[in-house]
Amino acid sequence: MKTLAYAAQSATTPLAPFSFQRREVGNHDVQIEILYCGVCHSDLHTVRGEWQGTAYPCVPGHEIVGRVLKVGMHVTKFKAGDTAGVGCMVDSCRTCANCEEDLEQFCPDTTFTYNSADKHLGGVTYGGYSQNIVVDEAFVLHIPDNLDLAATAPLLCAGITTYSPLHHHNVSAGQKVGIVGLGGLGHMGVKLAKAMGAHVVVFTTSANKVDDAIRLGADEVVNSKNADEMKKHLNSFHFILDTVSAQHDINAYFVLLKRDGNLTQVGIPTDPLSVNVSTLVFGRRSFSGSLIGGIKETQEMLDFCGEHNITSDIELIPIDKIDEAYDRLVKSDVKYRFVIDMATLQQA
Ligand code: NAP
Ligand code: ZN
Ligand code: ZN
Repeated sequence: MKTLAYAAQSATTPLAPFSFQRREVGNHDVQIEILYCGVCHSDLHTVRGEWQGTAYPCVPGHEIVGRVLKVGMHVTKFKAGDTAGVGCMVDSCRTCANCEEDLEQFCPDTTFTYNSADKHLGGVTYGGYSQNIVVDEAFVLHIPDNLDLAATAPLLCAGITTYSPLHHHNVSAGQKVGIVGLGGLGHMGVKLAKAMGAHVVVFTTSANKVDDAIRLGADEVVNSKNADEMKKHLNSFHFILDTVSAQHDINAYFVLLKRDGNLTQVGIPTDPLSVNVSTLVFGRRSFSGSLIGGIKETQEMLDFCGEHNITSDIELIPIDKIDEAYDRLVKSDVKYRFVIDMATLQQA
């Protein structure tokens, strides 16, 4: 099936119209017409070759929502006309210990939505900056009816990537939780931690995001460039979620944790971060990472968002503005997630 898309042909060329073949709908597959696709900073890291191993042409996009066009013979969870979502993964081995524990993101054989070996057609998988996608129903999510579709797209990556560590670290009412970086992931982290009952403190480098942070649900906002403001929070956090995409001083956050507090890194800067071990040793503090979330947990997160009426704050863009959106992401100029209106692909 010929599918229109937007692709990068190299790390240095702008994205441009492209077309390729999707596989035919198999017995367990769902074909989805993509209506909206969120723009994750990981798309930018991948397209611009900031991480190892980008295959070109690269069609990014893993915050996909749309409408089911067709389902295979054995599909039971979806029917034509349903709304549906696809996140960062489209398949896994289904039999390893990680898959058995619903943690497919850690399966050694996960197929990511783009830039991953395509088991069906060879080559690499192509993501959501495209007209439609064909995915095994086991990796397709239900979207709660009450949520705005365009604003729901970012939940498929930014939502689950922040929900999963908050949940794993048992964030709950009365705890003091920090969110570092108010971009796509960060603003979802604020909304979700607040809905879990935490006292939420945002750390931002952007003075023009302070009022928004409060509107999004933060109880306090700290200018992370101001050492005096940082000092007021020494030894006080149960948990800090760091979403920053670039080089920064994480030691400045370790000292803000209480004894036994944890800082989880979800932002993935290109170069290694430097850890001053004594900031962890004194206080038995810990430092971890977290990768998106499993399919079961992603559905749980979507249902949680449905119950609490949580979606992303978005700026809807036509697809031909994608490179401009990437340039703005690099400058932290995002409020708070770009989402592509995929109807504009036809005119591009
Ligand atoms: P984003 O929308 O661009 O937000 C990143 C935010 O980090 C910026 O808005 C900015 O917030 C802050 N920031 C940027 N540069 C900074 C610097 N030099 N120093 C301090 N703060 C800085 O990006 P995103 O889509 O949320 O993604 C964030 C990171 O998470 C990316 O590296 C992405 O690849 C990664 N990611 C990881 C996973 C996972 O599973 N672990 C999943 C998705 C994305 P302020 O303006 O508030 O300072
Ligand atoms: Zn992402
Ligand atoms: Zn597996």
